[in-house]
Amino acid sequence: MTGIEELLLSRIRDVPDYPEPGVMFKDITPLLADPAAFTALTEALAGISVRNGATKIVGLEARGFILGAPVAVRAGLGFIPVRKAGKLPGATLSQSYELEYGSAEIEVHAEDLAPGDRVMVVDDVLATGGTAEASLQLIRRAGAEVAGVAVLMELGFLSGRARLEPALDGAPLEAL
Ligand code: AMP
Repeated sequence: MTGIEELLLSRIRDVPDYPEPGVMFKDITPLLADPAAFTALTEALAGISVRNGATKIVGLEARGFILGAPVAVRAGLGFIPVRKAGKLPGATLSQSYELEYGSAEIEVHAEDLAPGDRVMVVDDVLATGGTAEASLQLIRRAGAEVAGVAVLMELGFLSGRARLEPALDGAPLEAL
């Protein structure tokens, strides 16, 4: 494990049975409270974005906002929030997706993404990949290109990477 991987891992708290029994919640608040770790994480995600030619950063509500905004500033790029349905005031594109029980819907301001944009999606945890997959579908429906998905952590046993593959269409998924 590299130094940065060790630093980041040491600042993630495992909370068993949250928010429901059987889930091991990955709490990043200790990492956010540590300026060295938060800076290292921001720089690593910004590096991935620049290396893959991103021109915009999409952050997924809510922890993807906390990470995506400083990544965008560090990379010198604009930040676009992808929000749960009903939170954005302007004209939106929406995408629904299946959860284990039921479904969910995310939205983006239609004017924020256009042909010619290359978009990097940033979030804390890739779990089933449902949210990230829906965000890639939104990006493509807006006519923009996908630069990739960059996350702090991938929960490999949930197979999000496999679920994302078609929507990535060759773009990278990088997990720190
Ligand atoms: P998914 O769509 O299943 O990949 O998960 C979507 C969102 O849920 C991500 O944005 C994560 O922030 C959050 N999430 C899912 N599982 C966990 C977990 N075990 N610990 C922390 N956050 C999680």
